[in-house]
Amino acid sequence: MIPKETVDKIFDAADVYDVIKDYVNLKKAGTNYKGNCPFHDEKTPSFMVSPAKGIYKCFGCGAAGNSVKFVMEHEKISFPEALKVLAKKYNIDVVEEELTPEKIVEKEERDSLFIVTEFAKNFFKNSLHKTDEGKNIALSYYRERGLKNDIIDKFELGWSPKKRDALTETAIKSGYKLNFLETTGLSIINKEKNYKFDRFAERVIFPIHTLSGKVIAFGGRTLRTDKKNAKYLNSPESDIYHKSKILYGIYFAKSAIVKKDKCYMVEGYTDVISMYQSGIENIVASSGTALTVDQIKLVRRFSKNITLIYDGDKAGIKASLRGIDLVLAEEMNVKIVMLPDGEDPDSFAQSKNTEELEQYISDNEEDFIKFKTRLLADEAKNDPIKRAQLVRSIVTSISVIPDKLIRSEYIKTTASLLNTSESILYEEVRKILGKKFGDLKQKNRNEFQNKKAENLLLPAETTGVFSKQNEKEIIYYLLNFGKENISHDEETGLDISVAEYIINEIKNENLEFKNLIYKDIFKTYEEFLISETNFVSKYFLTHSNEKISSVVAELISPKPELSKLWDKNGGKSEMPEDKLNESVPDAIEKFKLQIVVNKISAIKTQISNLKPEEYGEKLNQILETLKKLDDFKIELTKYTEKLALL
Ligand SMILES: [Zn+2]
Repeated sequence: MIPKETVDKIFDAADVYDVIKDYVNLKKAGTNYKGNCPFHDEKTPSFMVSPAKGIYKCFGCGAAGNSVKFVMEHEKISFPEALKVLAKKYNIDVVEEELTPEKIVEKEERDSLFIVTEFAKNFFKNSLHKTDEGKNIALSYYRERGLKNDIIDKFELGWSPKKRDALTETAIKSGYKLNFLETTGLSIINKEKNYKFDRFAERVIFPIHTLSGKVIAFGGRTLRTDKKNAKYLNSPESDIYHKSKILYGIYFAKSAIVKKDKCYMVEGYTDVISMYQSGIENIVASSGTALTVDQIKLVRRFSKNITLIYDGDKAGIKASLRGIDLVLAEEMNVKIVMLPDGEDPDSFAQSKNTEELEQYISDNEEDFIKFKTRLLADEAKNDPIKRAQLVRSIVTSISVIPDKLIRSEYIKTTASLLNTSESILYEEVRKILGKKFGDLKQKNRNEFQNKKAENLLLPAETTGVFSKQNEKEIIYYLLNFGKENISHDEETGLDISVAEYIINEIKNENLEFKNLIYKDIFKTYEEFLISETNFVSKYFLTHSNEKISSVVAELISPKPELSKLWDKNGGKSEMPEDKLNESVPDAIEKFKLQIVVNKISAIKTQISNLKPEEYGEKLNQILETLKKLDDFKIELTKYTEKLALL
């Protein structure tokens, strides 16, 4: 627990402008400051900071609060964690209650694991700096690699002594339980033979930090050259360490990623550290795993731009191309930089200063689709079968990009690089998307169903501004294309019409139209469908309620207002009705998303109205719900192309 006086001190010190300016580029606007909102995509600033009132507020997405709230939201961390971040910034000592061995026993298992890794980290640091063995072997190794003291301290590098059970023995003597040492993988125990030893004995140590700077795992590198030893060892998975969800270096890189609006990705620990030391601070590593969706989402919190840096030799690149499709599917912009022959990021960084590195990257980074096309085109030159595979592979990458406009730009580029016609590529993309639709719909439905079970959705009396546009779009499809088929179920042989799809989605998820006119039209339409009466717009057009007839008239005649929404395609690509199997589910998902967004903003208001004395339990509950909703929102966002409108 952080004492109340310390909390007050932190609140006093943390001026809202002074805190936020580290994350957002703010311009003075009268007595306030203005900038682009870090919580939603926007091109014109609607994010305001008022030093006088001590708050920020976004007029685009509704995000609002004080400096502590900002840090919580931005770094996705808890209230006490945010306080600690700010305490660090303002040099305020946070003295938490000391942990006695009894308390360690009382603590939850998870906490115990954190405590054990924290202990191990300090043990490894001590062994590096305060023992002759550490200084002679490990410290001189780090120095040889060109690492300076401040970087060794910052990344909390260490040394695990030669003595096979040095850590295990010290930990047990200090009151730490053997089973926690075992679960975190620090100790390896053979019960039959009754011996225990350190996993990382005689290795230099790279601690792996969470987003908020806690150590959850370690990487250890042997300095011995005999082949029997694996060069690198990593902590096994545990309750606190899931390697597919963490990126090495993210704790140190996150604010630089925001500032530069870009994240560099390399492979190894030393790559990250050397680049960081050379001034490239927005850098992380997937450390030993192929890039995962969770890792990409982690980066996406801070920036949509990611650049992968590869060693100079082309080996291994092809294998990693598949993973890059994951990045594209998250609507990230992916670029690739190849280092000169024979260089890896570590060696390259050591031979260059910051400007030279930045210059090299900006001169050599290449758009992913172009890179992939070039790489594979070389091989496929005169082989028609390989060429066909190449086209398919590129098209697969393109088809995962959610934004139609970006897709069509890539098709253009690819067509010219491969000397193929755009229409062939469009056709291929259409095929892939058509096949995906079935799976997607099922997945969507399952997820939505699950979330609903958790009772996360608000009933219709949601607060906040409701976008009529989403409802309008759904009614538009219903009225104009209700009878058209959008999907064919292979198993049952049944076709699913637009109307069936929409009505199913709306009814199954208990969604409700806020706008009474749309609600009425929807209900009537549904009755027509059930009674199998041939639906006629005429019924609505001659409806006694004038509002209904005029809304229907507007929706079934050419409508400048609606088509504006779709002009994003530059007017060249197909209209949404040409792709009902995409645009109708899109409209439905946007509708759901809007409901979630409203709920989130209601909760945000709730939080900013909380009094400090209510922070404890109530806030945690709210944050928990908010986190679930946020995750859900990200899921839904994948299926909606026009999030920027929200
Ligand atoms: Zn915003």
